[in-house]
Amino acid sequence: MNKDNRFKPKKTSGYIPEQKPKANYYKAAGNNKYKPVTDRNGKAVRHENEAVTAAAPPKKKLSGKCRAEKFCGGCNYLALKYEEQLKLKQEYIDGLFSEYVKVKPIIGMQDPLHYRNKVHHAFAMGKGGEIISGSYAADTHWVVSTDDCLLEDRKSQDIIETVRKLAKSFKYKPYNEDTGYGLLRHVLIRRGFESGEILVVLVLTSPILPGKKNFVKALREKHPDITSIVINVNDQDTSMVLGERNIPIFGPGFIRDKLCGLSYRISPSSFYQINPVQTEVLYNTAIQYADLKHHDVIIDAYCGIGTIGLTAAGKVSKLIGIELNKDAVRDARINASDNHISNAEFVNADASEYISEMADEGMQADVIFMDPPRSGSTEVFMSSAVKLAPRTIVYISCGPESLKRDLEYLTKHGYKVQKLQPVDMFPQTVHVETVVLLSKTEKSHIMP
Ligand code: SAH
Repeated sequence: MNKDNRFKPKKTSGYIPEQKPKANYYKAAGNNKYKPVTDRNGKAVRHENEAVTAAAPPKKKLSGKCRAEKFCGGCNYLALKYEEQLKLKQEYIDGLFSEYVKVKPIIGMQDPLHYRNKVHHAFAMGKGGEIISGSYAADTHWVVSTDDCLLEDRKSQDIIETVRKLAKSFKYKPYNEDTGYGLLRHVLIRRGFESGEILVVLVLTSPILPGKKNFVKALREKHPDITSIVINVNDQDTSMVLGERNIPIFGPGFIRDKLCGLSYRISPSSFYQINPVQTEVLYNTAIQYADLKHHDVIIDAYCGIGTIGLTAAGKVSKLIGIELNKDAVRDARINASDNHISNAEFVNADASEYISEMADEGMQADVIFMDPPRSGSTEVFMSSAVKLAPRTIVYISCGPESLKRDLEYLTKHGYKVQKLQPVDMFPQTVHVETVVLLSKTEKSHIMP
């Protein structure tokens, strides 16, 4: 057994209890690249230049429903009844935003388990020399075996189990971050809950998978419903999961899925919401808030594969989508044409840079949808958005604290919060998604 991979009790900064670990928890690497999002009391910690999204959770109780829960940072609310989780999230959002508007009751999920359509496991060498896979323990790069995770899609879990068994028989070694040795870094599975299509992405340190043909054959024999298998090459010393290069070794290299009546192609590195049931609730709320008119020019900023904008495009005259990830933009353009939507244009650019160019050119927009990453938007983006003078901004956020910061800016620059709807996209966890309707006030045209 490699000494470096033995479990060592470590200093805790999040929820990892200081007690002797039991089986199933292993150290994968020494460098703790993750920063804590909560301190020992569950209070959110703010890092420089970074917003934190954790709703301050109660002290972690164990539910007894999951073997990994002591160490895995995923489900801090698992021990709470679902109604209690929703109540806490409501209180958190009320506390942050009731100065602006009466917050609507959070929309929960009917079946709040196994909702994740994307399952990601890191690989590590276990105690007895067996390959294990799972999530990183909170704030670390220690792999916690999460075979029976209650959030993950069950079918994807079965496939990962097969990948581990096959890896053993094909003698593939898990990657060790400390030594830089090993082939298998991660496996990522995406399943279209509507389409049934399944994409398996093997993240490897090399483009060469020895015995590739037989591996693909064996994996498909066990899971004939897999529609694509891709090797993603990540040979860098990085905590990013995916590298730049994708090599399809079976199928087209992406999946399709259906959302709000449209069909989408999703590539390995493109963003796609992980809870499709609640995504439909989220998008329908956002589009209803926008109250679109057929002559409207709308912007979908941070658009990913174009889902929000394309759902709205049929109601308006023109859609401009802006997205930084080039694969996602390619997906968005193909998604427009596959769905016979001809009034959409997708731009591959930094949203702040592009929208400030639009403002400099004196362009206008009627409605802006913005759905930035957890860290929120930028002042450059918002000051330019205000110059485009949209009558409505619909802000979709997975980061309540960055949302608060950005609403402070927008409400000082001529926009008023009219409605605010929390949606539970991430049951059993501390995270909350929020849709906000902002409308232009009389003052706004003189403010910017
Ligand atoms: N609206 C989409 C994607 C939301 S996730 C959906 O609902 O699926 C946020 C997206 O913002 C990601 O696709 C990410 O690649 C993109 N992004 C991150 N930083 C960006 C930036 N500076 N400019 C434009 N897009 C960015």
